[in-house]
Amino acid sequence: MRKIKLHQNLLISLSDKSDGNIDYRFSPKAEVKSNRHKIFKYLNLSTQVVEVEQIHGSQVSFIDQKTAIKFPGKQIPKSDGMVTNLTKSALMTRLADCIPIVLYDPQNHAVGLIHAGWRGAIQKIHLHAIIKMTNHFNSKPTKLKAWLGPALQSCCYTTNKPPTQRVLPEWQSFISQKNKTWHIDYPGSVIDSLINVGVNKTNIVNSNQCTGHDKKQWFSYQRHKKTNESDGRFVVIVKLL
Ligand SMILES: [Zn+2]
Repeated sequence: MRKIKLHQNLLISLSDKSDGNIDYRFSPKAEVKSNRHKIFKYLNLSTQVVEVEQIHGSQVSFIDQKTAIKFPGKQIPKSDGMVTNLTKSALMTRLADCIPIVLYDPQNHAVGLIHAGWRGAIQKIHLHAIIKMTNHFNSKPTKLKAWLGPALQSCCYTTNKPPTQRVLPEWQSFISQKNKTWHIDYPGSVIDSLINVGVNKTNIVNSNQCTGHDKKQWFSYQRHKKTNESDGRFVVIVKLL
């Protein structure tokens, strides 16, 4: 478990394989519960931890006190992102290849946490989150800070068929073909679209870590499909301080 520094008033923490799987679908319930408990204890989280279902969509949920109370230990259905200005709640997302994106508004002390899969990235879920932050907290894209965590980078995001987004003009710079294999740069595309809506390039931090490459550290759904490696998820947790 480690803490990421994006801003002094924001806690971002990241687990890895050494903290165990935290998704109830892939390990016995008691084991996942224990792994989660250790992480929450390490972060000193005696607070509500809010999660979404994660269906690879583009819906972003506004987390107010009512929602946070309604969903402790449950997942908000059909959603892949959350925005909040609650200081009592933490937001958590589960990962293995999809991109965790954190958006922080230091002026209005509000945060967004997004799980961006390939479908979510095409639908620009991160921009849906910015619109929600603008509507609810009066956030300005130019003031936002952004962090992209470990994800499947273009080295490992490959396909033998032409990718779906090949027809979309804004994706052209992020698709390449080497020896009949297509490579897709999802984090690159996300960063480009953040900049296009006014997020300052110098306010964007990309971890550049590839879940596909580093099998000791990260769970990877793609690697799990290709090898006998067991499936699992690591987490990103954010909390306003
Ligand atoms: Zn890679």
